[in-house]
Amino acid sequence: YSAKRDKTRFMVYTQEDDLERQEQLRLAQELPQAIESDELRLHYQPMVRMKDREVIGVEALVRWQHPDKGMLFPDSFIPLAENSGSIEALTRWVLKAAIEQGSRWLSKGTRLYVSVNISALILHNPVFPDTVAKLLSKTGFPADLLKLEITESAIISDVVRASEVVISLHDMGVRVSIDDFGTGYTSLAYLRKLPVDEIKIDKSFVLNMNTVADDAVIVRTLLDLARNLDLSVVAEGIEDINLWNSLKELGCDIGQGYYMSRPIDVEAFSEWLSDQPWQQDF
Ligand code: C2E
Ligand code: MG
Ligand code: MG
Ligand code: MG
Repeated sequence: YSAKRDKTRFMVYTQEDDLERQEQLRLAQELPQAIESDELRLHYQPMVRMKDREVIGVEALVRWQHPDKGMLFPDSFIPLAENSGSIEALTRWVLKAAIEQGSRWLSKGTRLYVSVNISALILHNPVFPDTVAKLLSKTGFPADLLKLEITESAIISDVVRASEVVISLHDMGVRVSIDDFGTGYTSLAYLRKLPVDEIKIDKSFVLNMNTVADDAVIVRTLLDLARNLDLSVVAEGIEDINLWNSLKELGCDIGQGYYMSRPIDVEAFSEWLSDQPWQQDF
């Protein structure tokens, strides 16, 4: 390729990038107000104990019900929140909403843990455990029904600070799970040093484990690793009964995926919970 052609391509991309950047900038600017005026929503996806198909928890996944753009998914605004300083407010909103919903279920006799995703920046904030403690004490929600999903990169990028926060959370009784496990570079030593309870095998390995031999090997290896370190394992991305069966056979503890249910709002979740349409396959 010629330099001239590269230059042209560069210019074309810059114009598109500019529009894209303006759009992102606007969303980022709107976000603080959106959080205040309750435009965020939580959708819940069931987490199922595989040995007896008991629904034991939910992952709370945030959406933004944007007045003009409709429902936005987290990949389109979480990075903006992280870069524009809104992630703290967003996380607080999500945690509060998830804990309150968990408390409502509990008061109706439905004991489910709620699992919340935590960005790296939050994990490096030494006052975060305090924020969590306050939310728990205000609602009376049991700490051991709260699970926080952190990523490997959040640990690696600042091991000292992340460890302190994880240790405080663990001491409070909050569960800690490593999300997207296998996609990062967690030294196995950290897994042993940190009081982590669980790993979540990333869906990119699970989705094709029945067709791609390498993926099956990775899933099996991660399950072995977790067992040897006495960690519980969640597999995300279970899209069909074959994946369910394979993972169950391999002794995976908890399953999550479209086969059981997509993430849905609280009303749809209640209905799903009482009907459990997926159980009809068994
Ligand atoms: P994640 O924590 O790894 O969540 C799993 C994602 O996989 C969710 O996407 C979920 O809808 C999707 N998923 C679940 N089962 C299946 C399946 O069987 N097949 C396929 N193809 N996908 C499945 P979602 O809701 O779009 O969330 C994307 C990511 O956004 C999450 O990935 C998480 O990293 C982040 N996120 C979501 N909510 C929050 C939040 O409140 N705070 C922060 N910091 N991040 C969040
Ligand atoms: Mg997650
Ligand atoms: Mg995940
Ligand atoms: Mg993931």
